[in-house]
Amino acid sequence: MTSNGTLDARDRGATLSRLATERFDVLVVGGGITGAGAALDAASRGLRVALVEARDLASGTSSRSSKLIHGGLRYLEQFDFKLVYEALRERDLLVSKLAPHLVKPVSFLYPLYKKVVERPYVGAGLVLYDAMEGTRRPVPHHRHLTARGALKRAPALSPDRLAGAILYYDAQVDDARHTLTVARTAASHKAVIATRVSAVEVLRGPDGTRVTGTRVIDEETGRSFDVSAAAVVVCAGVWTDLVHELAGVQAGYRVRMSKGVHVVVPRESVDATTGMILRTEKSVLFFIPWGERWIVGTTDTDFAGDRAEPAATEEDVEYILAAANRVLARPLTRADVIAVYAGLRPLVTSVDNGSKPTTKLSREHVVDVPLPGLASIAGGKFTTYRLMARDVIDAAVVGFGREVPESVTDQVPLLGADGLAAVQPAAGRLAEDYGVSRAAVEHLLGRYGTLAEELLNLIRSDAGLARPLAEGHPYLRAEVAYAVTHENALHVEDVLMRRTRLFIESADAGASAAADVVAIMGRLLGWGRRRRAAETRRYLDLIAAEQTVIAIDPGPLSGRALAG
Ligand SMILES: Cc1cc2nc3c(=O)[nH]c(=O)nc-3n(C[C@H](O)[C@H](O)[C@H](O)COP(=O)(O)OP(=O)(O)OC[C@H]3O[C@@H](n4cnc5c(N)ncnc54)[C@H](O)[C@@H]3O)c2cc1C
Repeated sequence: MTSNGTLDARDRGATLSRLATERFDVLVVGGGITGAGAALDAASRGLRVALVEARDLASGTSSRSSKLIHGGLRYLEQFDFKLVYEALRERDLLVSKLAPHLVKPVSFLYPLYKKVVERPYVGAGLVLYDAMEGTRRPVPHHRHLTARGALKRAPALSPDRLAGAILYYDAQVDDARHTLTVARTAASHKAVIATRVSAVEVLRGPDGTRVTGTRVIDEETGRSFDVSAAAVVVCAGVWTDLVHELAGVQAGYRVRMSKGVHVVVPRESVDATTGMILRTEKSVLFFIPWGERWIVGTTDTDFAGDRAEPAATEEDVEYILAAANRVLARPLTRADVIAVYAGLRPLVTSVDNGSKPTTKLSREHVVDVPLPGLASIAGGKFTTYRLMARDVIDAAVVGFGREVPESVTDQVPLLGADGLAAVQPAAGRLAEDYGVSRAAVEHLLGRYGTLAEELLNLIRSDAGLARPLAEGHPYLRAEVAYAVTHENALHVEDVLMRRTRLFIESADAGASAAADVVAIMGRLLGWGRRRRAAETRRYLDLIAAEQTVIAIDPGPLSGRALAG
């Protein structure tokens, strides 16, 4: 039996009392893509599941990635064939069946500068890359281009030394929205999902050996209580070592943090009709089309600061701009930068390879069971979350002493995917029926799939919700209301940073929309005048804090650093 997967922020009290009173088979700690995936995997096997997330769903690494669902061309060079093979299979499954509304094909131009060696070398890699795909082939094959063909698709490239290019295909996703949709799909299979609830202690049974749940704190009220579960599954990304410490265990691996920074620039600052990938000294640099913008990155450096607020530095931004400008005819300057965001890769390492550069550490995942009843997972990639989830739940249920069905998530489309093919052609009719523009319907279909009709129904009952949230951006006010009533948004940043992406897409980080967001949220959540003022201030303070991160020389820097 499934329900509709609604995560209504107004029901938070009831959700927390379920956490405190029910006994679960699996308690997942962490609401990034790995934890959301684990909750879905376990719930769709018929288990009783709860998930606690210390902040907001996807507020860690899972909203700060390059947003690619890809095999990872560069891992071929590291002979990580298994990882590339698995990731490509997952990419194809997501594009064609599990999440076609969220995961969409995107092309990348790989410019070539060395006439003789480079084309056969990169070409051979791409033949292998394409060959590793499944047979259904939801994205096209790669193609070789002349220098002229490359410049036609990307006039932004400098023609100097350009010998030609190869065009290949991968896929992209709004990482935060995908994570949220996985969590909602888990909820549709009866998982209890609670945000701003932190695991603060790992509980053990009377004999002291077996884990029996965790003590948690409700971060909104400071109240603590216990959650009972037959197995605790740690999906805490770069916080994993800290959760192991709470349990008083040393797992068989450690997590090493590697920081990756991206800058966001307007679409018109780089004239190209395709994404681009450039080889850099240590790794690669992507130009990723993102609506009316480009996301450009990334970096890969060791990190030891605050996990919750990884900061971009001046050097990070300079490095990205310099790497981009090596190939652009018109260089990008600091004035082009709308936003900067940083994320932390949770890379697995043993004590032995602690000094290895982070670019060389494997992106494969590791599962461990350091205590009976405690399973943990780290490493991996966003792309392979479904396999990670399957593996950690397989490990968690070993001690159950009863048969647990195998993972079925390769057959479970995410909410909004089912029936999409029949709804997409009806965009024009829906626009007429609900009295909104076709562009608005297409925008909603591209973000919510078939659930778009739930938002259209909100608009039908309150026409004001059809108005745009911010000038020049496609988001509608209905998305704010829906974020509260269906997507568990509790604070303004949940809406502006993750349910929508105004934080990285607008030059003012969404500040000018904050008052309207507070008004809509406040109406639904019963916020009084004081609370509304506090919520607005909280968001503006958050932006101000982010703006100080790299604004060492605020003069030439028109953008800002952020973490969302
Ligand atoms: C710059 C960058 C670019 C990337 N690009 C790509 C890409 O293009 N494609 C790709 O496939 N992968 C990419 N990745 C990797 C991918 O983003 C990560 O592997 C993935 O998001 C990790 O998800 P996670 O759920 O393991 O961790 P997280 O998303 O960090 O989730 C962990 C969660 O646990 C919560 N938590 C921690 N402690 C507790 C506690 N005690 N109680 C409750 N909750 C707790 C945290 O608040 C957090 O939300 C990229 C990573 C980075 C940094």
